[in-house]
Amino acid sequence: MKIGDAAQRLGVAVHVLRHWDDEGIVVPDRSPSGHREYTEEHLTRLRVLRACQGVGMSLPEIRQVLNRAEPGRAAVIEQRIGWIQAQRRRLEHAERFLTHVVDCRHDLLTRCEGCSGYAATTGHAGAD
Ligand SMILES: [Zn+2]
Repeated sequence: MKIGDAAQRLGVAVHVLRHWDDEGIVVPDRSPSGHREYTEEHLTRLRVLRACQGVGMSLPEIRQVLNRAEPGRAAVIEQRIGWIQAQRRRLEHAERFLTHVVDCRHDLLTRCEGCSGYAATTGHAGAD
């Protein structure tokens, strides 16, 4: 299919697909006249790419993950899994806090051990 059709099916702009082609991440076939031709396999690959982006992976990381021959691939994947696990812990912690706070009887957060404990354990670990 043509690039416009592929972009529409994925819900992305045409220039995004061109960029991913230029970056060598998902490289479509070329018609004899030089136009990009996407197969279902390309589309599947593009969906995987989008899913990877959805969990915060960068294009260089995704390139490494999608190509088995890439050096350092295992390390990149391991690092990303570690990041996901850290995010999960953070989200679970936030969930416990919010579940507590909805029923918290204290007037001030600072007077409640459950509430102030959340801030103490969370710290400033927000930026990674
Ligand atoms: Zn509380």
